[in-house]
Amino acid sequence: ALPAWFFEEAVKQAPLAISITDKKANIVYANAAFCLITGYSIDEVIGKNESILSNKSTPRAVYHDLWRTISRNNIWQGQLVNRHKNGTPYLAELMITPIRDSLKNVTHYLGMHRDVSPSF
Ligand code: FAD
Repeated sequence: ALPAWFFEEAVKQAPLAISITDKKANIVYANAAFCLITGYSIDEVIGKNESILSNKSTPRAVYHDLWRTISRNNIWQGQLVNRHKNGTPYLAELMITPIRDSLKNVTHYLGMHRDVSPSF
């Protein structure tokens, strides 16, 4: 079997913004690509809510659909308008999946996104 560190390194090095949150979307882990894509350092995001990434221009209905879906333990996929730390908005293609413990209880959420902003 592959050693545990191998999977940790794979997540760390993945060229996709990966974060793990508690059930209220407070960030407990973020990888290097997350920092690169959002502009925030690890220290700036740990303990903060994912809403720090919001450009506040995504329709409320999208967030309602997101929360309705993940709180029913389903996978949500969609696009949100995020804002880089430097203020630049970008279009994020995001997937959120519930993470279950050994008793199958959802304890965390895994978020994965990439910048799909159109270039003109
Ligand atoms: P909020 O008040 O946070 O939420 C708006 C609406 O969402 C509320 O009216 C409510 O209906 C619903 N809602 C919020 N929190 C909960 C909850 N705990 N349980 C049930 N319903 C709730 N947002 C982004 O903008 N960009 C991202 O990249 C992003 N990534 C995320 C990744 C993960 C893993 C998770 C779990 C969430 C992510 N979110 C992201 C959603 C984020 O946490 C916020 O809900 C969203 O940004 C809206 O924030 P707000 O402060 O404008 O409104």
